[in-house]
Amino acid sequence: MILVHSGVVAGIEGFLIEVEVDVRPGLPGFEIVGLPSKTVRESRERVRSALRNSGFKFPAQKVIVNLAPAHYPKDGAFFDLPIALGILASQGHLDPAMLRQRIFAGELSLNGSLKRINGTLSLTELAQEHGCQLVIPEANSQEASLMGSGNLVLTPSLSHLVHFLKGKTAAPPIPKAAPPQPPVLTGKLIKGQAHAKRALEIAAAGRHHIMLLGPPGVGKTLLATQARGLLPPLSRAEMLTLTKIYEAAGLITGHSPPITERPLRSPHHSVSQAGLIGSRNGRPGEITLAHLGILLLDEFPEFSHNALQGLREPLDQKEVHISRAEHSLTYPADFWLIATANPCPCGYLGSSVRFCHCTSQDLNRYQRKLRGPLLDRIELFCYLTPLSEKELQEKTIPWPQSSKGIENRTNSNTPEISAAARQFLYKAQESLGLSVRGLENMLRIATTIAKLDGAPSVDEPQVAEALQYRLDTQLYSHLLA
Ligand SMILES: [Zn+2]
Repeated sequence: MILVHSGVVAGIEGFLIEVEVDVRPGLPGFEIVGLPSKTVRESRERVRSALRNSGFKFPAQKVIVNLAPAHYPKDGAFFDLPIALGILASQGHLDPAMLRQRIFAGELSLNGSLKRINGTLSLTELAQEHGCQLVIPEANSQEASLMGSGNLVLTPSLSHLVHFLKGKTAAPPIPKAAPPQPPVLTGKLIKGQAHAKRALEIAAAGRHHIMLLGPPGVGKTLLATQARGLLPPLSRAEMLTLTKIYEAAGLITGHSPPITERPLRSPHHSVSQAGLIGSRNGRPGEITLAHLGILLLDEFPEFSHNALQGLREPLDQKEVHISRAEHSLTYPADFWLIATANPCPCGYLGSSVRFCHCTSQDLNRYQRKLRGPLLDRIELFCYLTPLSEKELQEKTIPWPQSSKGIENRTNSNTPEISAAARQFLYKAQESLGLSVRGLENMLRIATTIAKLDGAPSVDEPQVAEALQYRLDTQLYSHLLA
């Protein structure tokens, strides 16, 4: 019996699979155990033809292949290559020692060449963990250039690989692509709204979740979209993680470039909980596609209670667990939440330009939806008003101003909180009736403000500004009262 190692990807994690190939005397046959039947049929056909078309005879004996462990979901295409190699080794065409310390994965064409497979980034990590070399199709060279690791071998075909393993030929070089550069996100000319821009800068610096409230047409969505430019460029490791996620979601094919910019996901409010959180068939949800970037929930109160409820756990844990029948998955979900909402169903409550014609029942129902399951996870609130005459006449400068992200401006030391600031905060806690959670929240935001402004310590001005983003909700509930 010959043992060949392969791997499989569940979610964005790679798992080791043992491919046991046994060729014994008996009626000629080809059996694969451990794969769904349709996949088995296709795999057998490909392996048989690929061996013949690569100049080898398919054994006129009983061939039994076992894939273990049985409980992992298996994509049959990964195993064509290890199965073919196991058969060749059992026939004496290869020394079984050449298969050790290597993980093989690849789909064979009928002519013996190898086709691109999904999930190679996860397989590379698997190979590194096990101290093995990973052998994958040359068609995956684009991902290979991204990984650029020393334990990787590319091969165009089965016959090439046999020659390579025997030391008779070299492997194709791994393309040395320049490290992918994050694109420069340029600022847009957005008039006025200095208060909202400042709130978003603070929120970006501390990765605080934020809600923008205001009537239609004040630029809530535009500001939220532009806020991506406040985040620093992705590191190489972050790009790899995101590329793995988008590959698992089936959003990357052979020719798509790797993910180099922070995601901005803006699902429609009709999105299901599975679409938002992740589905049981293993597809990552919007919160995972927004990992390291922005999840924009535009028209927040229109999202279903069920979908929003599902966000609570990922917001706290920065990852999401999806339970499935055979194998549960964990996906990263460290996103910055920006929500937008109208103040009332018609949108003009508190507006100086138009009269709100909502009934008090309308308002009550709307407020309940707004106060829904996530309100305590949102740390900053900002109320936008239509532009004033003065703002309309102001000279517009691009926003965000720097494409390098707000964090580069941010002081990395955590400033001390002064005694005066504490006193001020406790007084505010009493008069505003802040909860313990609310108090901690204010302190966190004041600290972010001090860091952003390069202040040596957190003092009264920072606490006062932090309270302002709280007061917006107070103002808001007064508007509704
Ligand atoms: Zn209204």
